[in-house]
Amino acid sequence: MTLGEALAAARQQIDRLDARLLLQYATGCSHADLLARPEMPVIGPAYEQFQDWVARRAAGEPLAYLVGEAEFRGRVFQVSPAVLIPRPETEVLIELALEKLPGLAAPKVVDLGTGSGIVAISLALESPAATVVAVDLSAEAISVARNNAGRLGARIDFRQGDWFSPLAGEHFDLIVSNPPYVADGDPHLALNGLPFEPRMALTDGADGLSCIRHIVADAADHLAPGGWLLFEHGYDQGEASRNLLTAAGFKAASTFPDLAGIDRVSGGHL
Ligand code: GLN
Repeated sequence: MTLGEALAAARQQIDRLDARLLLQYATGCSHADLLARPEMPVIGPAYEQFQDWVARRAAGEPLAYLVGEAEFRGRVFQVSPAVLIPRPETEVLIELALEKLPGLAAPKVVDLGTGSGIVAISLALESPAATVVAVDLSAEAISVARNNAGRLGARIDFRQGDWFSPLAGEHFDLIVSNPPYVADGDPHLALNGLPFEPRMALTDGADGLSCIRHIVADAADHLAPGGWLLFEHGYDQGEASRNLLTAAGFKAASTFPDLAGIDRVSGGHL
């Protein structure tokens, strides 16, 4: 089997771009190699790896889990099925968080439910004066995030535990979170590879707002004066989020859209 033949066969079963990327990952060839030398043979373990990946991709397994990595904000993060695959809309959370930090000499930041670490690591790398703590309930997620921080050269203080529980007595200038916010039973959970992702990272098993309620209610105890809370949420949770923030004493409760114009992040300050 040649590269060209392997690619053509895979394209019958899966998306064209996915087929090409999987062939590149399996063989170590670049895109240019595939174009320049389609007659090169694909043999042995590389061929078996490619066939296995194509079959699994055809069955719905996300490409990021097959190859073990995904890009976010121009950086490559390792991922496993213990963590959510990075979504481009989470960049909004990073952009808003970065706007809050410049006035502070040595800001203290915490990322709740860090998963693969994309939020904590992006903030640590893009705001070098910040001290960043990252919390996750899942030990497996912490190990993925710790590995990513090491590879990308970010200094993060990782803590395992439930939301604020490993942060007793600590105060932050900025609390950020991309919590599970999909409601239990949302049909979206059965689509687009979501069944392969960790359920605890996607849904609260309730109305979709229970983690947000918990975070908003406890954030005031862990914010420095003037500190900000910013969190990601679903397209229809902006109003509920602002109401929760206002009821908890936050000022300037507001909602921000993602690049698709969908309500995506809410927050406020004390
Ligand atoms: N944005 C994700 C999705 O809809 C959900 C992420 C999350 O719950 N934090 O697939």
